Amino acid sequence: MAITRGSDLGLARVGKWPLWERPALSVWYVLVVDLAAVALTTAEFVRPGVDIVPPAVAVAILAAAAVQVEASRRIERARRIRNGSVRINMISMWVFAAVLTLPLAWVAVLTVLLSLHDTLRSQRGFPHRKIMNAAAMLLAAGAAHLVLDTGDVPVLTQATQLTAAPIAVVALAAVVFFAVDALLIAVSLLVDDERQRTMADLFGSADDNALELATICLGAVIGLVLVYQPIALVFLFVPLFVLHRGVLVTQFRELATKDQKTGLLNAATWREVAARELAAADTAGVLMVDLDHFKRVNDTHGHLAGDEVLKAVAATVRRSVRDYDCVGRFGGEEFVVLVPGLPSADVLAVAERIRRAIAELRVPLAGGPTVLSTLSASIGVATHPSAAAGIDELVHAADAALYRAKRGGRNRVVSHFTVCDTRTG
Ligand code: GH3
Ligand code: MG
Ligand code: MG
Repeated sequence: MAITRGSDLGLARVGKWPLWERPALSVWYVLVVDLAAVALTTAEFVRPGVDIVPPAVAVAILAAAAVQVEASRRIERARRIRNGSVRINMISMWVFAAVLTLPLAWVAVLTVLLSLHDTLRSQRGFPHRKIMNAAAMLLAAGAAHLVLDTGDVPVLTQATQLTAAPIAVVALAAVVFFAVDALLIAVSLLVDDERQRTMADLFGSADDNALELATICLGAVIGLVLVYQPIALVFLFVPLFVLHRGVLVTQFRELATKDQKTGLLNAATWREVAARELAAADTAGVLMVDLDHFKRVNDTHGHLAGDEVLKAVAATVRRSVRDYDCVGRFGGEEFVVLVPGLPSADVLAVAERIRRAIAELRVPLAGGPTVLSTLSASIGVATHPSAAAGIDELVHAADAALYRAKRGGRNRVVSHFTVCDTRTG
């Protein structure tokens, strides 16, 4: 029994990594990045002049990182369950602090140890992804070190005069560290999947990247503190912990307001925002958009394909209206839009634009050559003040109009005040 378990942890388990089922290009890419990181580390260690006794700074960073990672483990776990992004993590802060203060060989050792600690403690995600992330970070550290070497600040020491020039070199190294890591991971995602990916899929959201940049900046501060006043590091622990928790609060707020499948506002938040907008508008329209025969999409292509379609339709509705129009997912395959400040005729034109955009939509389905091109939607429209004054009454009137659009044959716009529809195509 013990022997079986032991071999599972070894090569047998490596053989079962899902990596090997990925497209050939993806496997090659991961292997090349991993090997490049190993080669860089080896080359740094065999370079003459590298001390094989760990410098005190390396031990200090490792100890401080371990304390910080342990202290915020629960926060980090909640963040990852919610966010899924493994590129964005607090390790890069310690690695960048190491980049500024240690020879690259020791940066490599620290990266490996910190990643290992993270892997053993968080136990989420595939090992090959964790290795790839560590390798990407290490290569990013190598690139940042190159910037420091070129700028004549190979490592910060107490002798370094912190004038504008070395600070500019450190800032450039931070940007290069951030960019190389982001790029290596983005390419790994790109070659892993033939599906069309958005920039946010490849590089993470703007919030993710802001957090990563903030993390690297803190790494720079930690590097400076370590060199000039190591004991002052204790003052950084509390702000770090609070920052980390603050990020989580932001993410929970987003979780509470957005529909996770489509990224639109969820129904409750839409109602709240729409009621506020409506109170401030002289005229407005509510559109209730319902996909036609959507059940058939699920029945024919499966629910995952159905989800792809929902995302594509949500993006299409969002694109078809102004930035400040309020778009939500009402439920299932129903979307709801508030367009404030427009007279009835213009509201109908917006609805018609959405109907047409959905009818023209082509959705490539993942894992196959199928492109769905037979979508359509029925749209019910109610306008303020002619139909109703309050948001609930407007939604109700738009819903009633939607049912008339369905009964009238679908793929059409029906307004609460029209008997005939506006379908043109
Ligand atoms: P109609 O033209 O009358 O609106 O027909 P329909 O098939 O669109 O409407 P119906 O209400 O019969 O079915 C709605 C379908 O939407 C059934 C349900 O499985 C599907 N659905 C609801 N939410 C989701 C979701 O999040 N993902 C997927 N894939 N399907 C969903
Ligand atoms: Mg429907
Ligand atoms: Mg429906």
